[in-house]
Amino acid sequence: MSVLEVRALSKIYEGKVPTPALKGVTFRMERGEFVGVMGPSGSGKTTLLNVMATIDEPTSGSVLIEGREPHQMSEEDTALFRRRKLGFIFQQFNLLDTLTIEENIVLPLTLDGTPVREMESRAAAIAQRLGIGGLLKKYAFEVSGGEMQKTAIARAIIHRPSLILADEPTGNLDSRSSREVMEAFTALNEEEQATIFMVTHDAVAASYCHRVIFIKDGKFYNEIYRGSSRQVF
Ligand code: ADP
Ligand code: ADP
Repeated sequence: MSVLEVRALSKIYEGKVPTPALKGVTFRMERGEFVGVMGPSGSGKTTLLNVMATIDEPTSGSVLIEGREPHQMSEEDTALFRRRKLGFIFQQFNLLDTLTIEENIVLPLTLDGTPVREMESRAAAIAQRLGIGGLLKKYAFEVSGGEMQKTAIARAIIHRPSLILADEPTGNLDSRSSREVMEAFTALNEEEQATIFMVTHDAVAASYCHRVIFIKDGKFYNEIYRGSSRQVF
């Protein structure tokens, strides 16, 4: 079963002048894929991400995550599904400054009542893998931007989500930190078979993906696989 299946997804923002933001987007992602989406401002990237994240409702079409349709669930079940099955990474790291790196990383587990020892050992293992193992006792405000983003990545993966959704994860980073963060994503992808969907403007970040999809005016118009390119529309 595919981790993600998006079928004929459309979104029209109603208003005085209805705005079509997605016009029949179809694609799927298998476990362990690392997919990037690029496109100009206003092309529908945020809308797509928000609909996939179950934060926004589509006008038509469907989103299946591991064969289930969160948009068809009750509000409460959708929230539970989102918390269990999805991991989020944002441009502005969204860490809590008053917590340590370790406390930030285990936050999603504290909501589930995971025993402290297990939280600590999982945090240590993931932090090690991402190259922030020595920072666990520091506070979030004490570390660099790249280290903050790696912390956010660790937090997004700690509950072993089916799908990671990243929105411009290198948008606030210099090129060296960006490369380090993309290497962290690659490590998770290769070693944990993490399935990652990333919206980015950054060609360097996109170069780490297996597949880059280009979106314009709410439609996918090209897809590049590492080392090759093919038109899809
Ligand atoms: P991107 O993330 O690629 O910049 P968006 O998904 O934000 O694109 O926007 C796609 C289109 O939908 C644009 O025309 C934008 O103006 C419009 N749009 C986005 N959000 C809203 C909204 N809440 N209400 C009305 N129109 C919106
Ligand atoms: P896990 O990935 O944690 O193993 P499961 O799908 O096995 O999740 O479900 C564990 C329990 O949580 C079951 O009782 C299941 O009904 C419930 N559950 C899982 N996902 C949801 C969801 N999205 N909405 C409501 N209940 C859910």
